[in-house]
Amino acid sequence: MDIRYFDNAATTRIKEDVLKEMLPYLKENFGNPSSMYTIGRNARKAVEEARKKVAKLIHCKSNEIYFTGSGSESNNTAIKGIAHKNAFKGRHIITSKIEHPSVLHTCRSLEKEGFRVTYLNVDENGFINLDELMNSVRNDTILISIMFANNEIGTIEPIQEIARIAKMYNIIFHTDAVQACGNVPIDVQKMGIDMLSLSGHKLYAPKGIGAIYVRNGISFEKFIDGGHQEKDKRAGTENVPGIVGLGKACELANIHLEQHMKHLKEIRDYYIDQIEKKIPNIKLNGAKEKRLPGNANFSFECIEGQSLLLNLDAKGICASSGSACSTGSSNPSHVLNAIGLSSQLASGALRTSFGEENTKEDIDYLVENLVEIVKRLRDINSLKPQEHI
Ligand SMILES: *Cc1c(COP(=O)(O)O)cnc(C)c1O
Repeated sequence: MDIRYFDNAATTRIKEDVLKEMLPYLKENFGNPSSMYTIGRNARKAVEEARKKVAKLIHCKSNEIYFTGSGSESNNTAIKGIAHKNAFKGRHIITSKIEHPSVLHTCRSLEKEGFRVTYLNVDENGFINLDELMNSVRNDTILISIMFANNEIGTIEPIQEIARIAKMYNIIFHTDAVQACGNVPIDVQKMGIDMLSLSGHKLYAPKGIGAIYVRNGISFEKFIDGGHQEKDKRAGTENVPGIVGLGKACELANIHLEQHMKHLKEIRDYYIDQIEKKIPNIKLNGAKEKRLPGNANFSFECIEGQSLLLNLDAKGICASSGSACSTGSSNPSHVLNAIGLSSQLASGALRTSFGEENTKEDIDYLVENLVEIVKRLRDINSLKPQEHI
């Protein structure tokens, strides 16, 4: 059975061209980039070329990019690195209730050290409120960390406005752009972003490679002690193949961004249209317009998300209920909770995140199966939604 993959927000399949670019650095150019001889120097050169490509995608200087081991590490480095460096100035951080666990749990851990954190609410579409943000600023606020786009519902936050407020109060602004990078245009200079996290495996590069952008002039505490790699900020021999892969993926994302967005939007909107026409008693979660081009998230009334996923899997369809990170825990998604969904609707959520390989024919297959499965599950439950409204 063919696999139909609609879970690109969980991870993406590595591109053939990305893999091709990486292979020499797993083979003949296996040298340590810190070594003086030719294969070491080749590796060093490749790392610096990749740094330029990552920088180009988000419009920063290449010396503002630091490679890390993941998006999670980038978020940890940004938030803990700024908190620890600036604790003498203040110990207050502002974030939102719908952040990825690598932001939320980092903030929780800082709270145990005595930092104070404000978790901003979001409205029914997942947007933070700028007035609430402004009212949350205190004399001792040192960092605002708000995600660029949400991984579950796809909502794109008002990044430029948040940056403007941060600047007005002279507070550092970090954004988790793991879902946004490669899927929407990002210009850290124009948008006023001070720090940004990204991850390889969400944009067709391998897992276990990430990067963080830190505007020149902002200092942060190093996250991993050891050797002098990454300008003494992140010890550990560089993951050269991963870095090369990330660089290539960013280069390709940059070249094809417009076309990629158009493609995702087309199939996403086709999917939404078909579901709305063919399945009653559903709710689209997340923002209508300001939304990642490849994200759709529907709640199906009187359906258990887990049974939906199992039934889809039996048809070779990969999708997600909530986020991959919270799968395995039976807690309803903190994001769906924050946008005010009832626990019944939250547990009946299905996230489909489309990718470059998806075709309209894939969507037809997905919709056809969803129609059948939803009907069958509702019949079994004999919980006809109409009777419950
Ligand atoms: C996937 C994801 C991360 C974590 O990235 P990893 O490289 O898997 O650690 C962080 N934030 C968001 C929004 C994500 O979607």
